[in-house]
Amino acid sequence: MKGTKYIWSFLIVFVCCCAAYGQQLRIGIFRDYAAKKVIFDYDKGSYSIYNDTGFVAAILPNESAQLSVTPDNLVELKYNYQTVGKFSKIRLVENQLNNNISVQVTEPKSKTRKYQNDFEIFADKGSLTIVNLVDISNYLAGVVESEGGGGKELEYYKVQALISRTYLYKYFNKHAEEGFSLCDRVHCQAYHSMMRFTPSIEQAVKETGNLVMKDDHGHLIDAYFHANCGGQTSEAQYVWNNNVPYLNSFRDTFCIYTKQAVWEKRIPQQEWADFLVKKYNYPINDTVFGPLIFTFNQPDRMAFYQSAVLGIPLRDIRINFGLRSTFFNVSPDGTDVLLTGRGYGHGVGLCQEGAMKMAYYQYNFRQIAIYYFPGAQIVSLEDEDFFRYTSDFKEQLENF
Ligand SMILES: [Zn+2]
Ligand SMILES: [Zn+2]
Repeated sequence: MKGTKYIWSFLIVFVCCCAAYGQQLRIGIFRDYAAKKVIFDYDKGSYSIYNDTGFVAAILPNESAQLSVTPDNLVELKYNYQTVGKFSKIRLVENQLNNNISVQVTEPKSKTRKYQNDFEIFADKGSLTIVNLVDISNYLAGVVESEGGGGKELEYYKVQALISRTYLYKYFNKHAEEGFSLCDRVHCQAYHSMMRFTPSIEQAVKETGNLVMKDDHGHLIDAYFHANCGGQTSEAQYVWNNNVPYLNSFRDTFCIYTKQAVWEKRIPQQEWADFLVKKYNYPINDTVFGPLIFTFNQPDRMAFYQSAVLGIPLRDIRINFGLRSTFFNVSPDGTDVLLTGRGYGHGVGLCQEGAMKMAYYQYNFRQIAIYYFPGAQIVSLEDEDFFRYTSDFKEQLENF
């Protein structure tokens, strides 16, 4: 209980500070790359460059800063390709609100992306750590775009904003030891750019204000999502071995006629049998299970192939053969097995294509969120009942 209070207290301090002082989040970007070199190019509005001791120069139209990691683990700064020096840290600060800048890792080479707000760059074990110091609303808009795609209904984006905000507050210190709060990979939440395609994303973030989702015990929920559940969502324990009350399996009729609802795959029978027999000791000589090795039906989602007593998790089969989902039937077809499957992704929590269809049918974001997370509640971070001002909190606020 004390632990719970402590988490809430910490969250309140975090929320209050962000609101009161306009504090920016620290998001590690380009974390898919071990970046050796990065270029910041003028895009919209000027930026000031600062090194360890102070102001260096401004990035104006047609100008850029090139940063690279040195063998002694420092950051070498070039301004318009002229060497300035080596420093422990470089900061790029926007000169007006909501400027943006083009950023490209050039070694190894990435695509160019655009980001808003400020940056901090330092070296860590032979590569560059690039941190985007970003306002919460800009970060959430970037996540909603990266995770939710472009050109969708407003109410769908509001659900995605609610999910992304809940994740942010639940896990905001996940990468503290690396010098930032969250990374930009799906490990945390994909965050690949500022909004480029859909103005309604910004509106969705704004209109969901400070809303998050909590469970019956007052904890922020794990708001998992996936592309398409195939007509039935999956139990969390089928995927991660732990049972979560608001992540139960249920029938979802909203996604069954969408584009990722069904799939097929052929696998040579020999390969199928080898995997099951060699890796999982499938009882090929058993009179009941032996003849069934190439035949399997799943009218409802199951966790194991054929029977739980054989102990062959469908999620392991999915990973081994690179399947879209664990929700598939198997039948022999010539020298192959034919897999006919439904859905795309782990199937737990919100089904994105179902949620899009609900938004198209005029359901609002609250109805959609509660449909996919039954038992969860939507609350405001500013709600005093939700945060319950404890003595622990007051103490921490005074010491902050
Ligand atoms: Zn991460
Ligand atoms: Zn679905």
